[in-house]
Amino acid sequence: MKRRYKSIPWIELGVRLLIVSLLLVGVCAIREGSRVFGASREGPSLLILYDNYPFREGLRSSWGFSCLVRGMEKVVLFDTGGNGSMLRANMEKLGVDPDSIEVVVLSHCHQDHVGGLPSLLRRNPKVTVYLPAAFPASYKKKLRDWGARVVDVSGPRKICAGVYTTGEMGEWIREQSLAVRTEKGLIVVTGCAHPGITNIIERAKGSAKADVLLVLGGFHLLNLGKADVLKVISAFKKLGVRYAGPSHCSGDLTRRLFKEAYGRKCLNVGVGREIRVNALN
Ligand SMILES: [Zn+2]
Ligand SMILES: [Zn+2]
Repeated sequence: MKRRYKSIPWIELGVRLLIVSLLLVGVCAIREGSRVFGASREGPSLLILYDNYPFREGLRSSWGFSCLVRGMEKVVLFDTGGNGSMLRANMEKLGVDPDSIEVVVLSHCHQDHVGGLPSLLRRNPKVTVYLPAAFPASYKKKLRDWGARVVDVSGPRKICAGVYTTGEMGEWIREQSLAVRTEKGLIVVTGCAHPGITNIIERAKGSAKADVLLVLGGFHLLNLGKADVLKVISAFKKLGVRYAGPSHCSGDLTRRLFKEAYGRKCLNVGVGREIRVNALN
């Protein structure tokens, strides 16, 4: 009898502890929920951190490309530009915390796309880097030595909820592009598009089985004449691409011809340009 009586406070304590932990779990779940809700309410966005075309005053532009994707499950940096100090300076001016980056996707092994990575890793090595499997083994080892997690990409694969890579494409220069699935359609972000911009869109569209809302980045058309660029534009239309953002290695002529063909649906992409997907109609 005495023993039973004695055990009651322990049961009470146990129940209280259980209630407190359930409350804590509940509070955390609500906070997590509001974070996700906050992100989805704002919607996904793309912010150009590095490009040879200027857009916003006070930022540095130089040959290369880097685009930050936010508002998805993870914060993804696609390419890192050619120069780390320039990338970091632009990030600082744009209020982007390097520690907020969770995933880095490198399109291909050219300096104007990978050059900014060492500087970023020095500040935040806790990132997962998705790179084409064709990258040199010594390069991958270096990234691992710096503390990054390295993921080899061969075929198309998921990076996080709603974010995918097309997988390695191309013969000589192996390159991957990013595909972001949004409520308004698929967004394709390209580095240099060495495997051919329309091939990339076809691959992304085929894998995602979704309509293409926007294609943005380097289209690699800078050596093409007017007739050939117009052919690419009509291929874009045939593929149902609603918005185009030619930048980096697309060429001035390409940008002008896309503007003529797409009107306000040709986005003027350059350093500091932020594209909120919810604003695209
Ligand atoms: Zn390139
Ligand atoms: Zn390039």
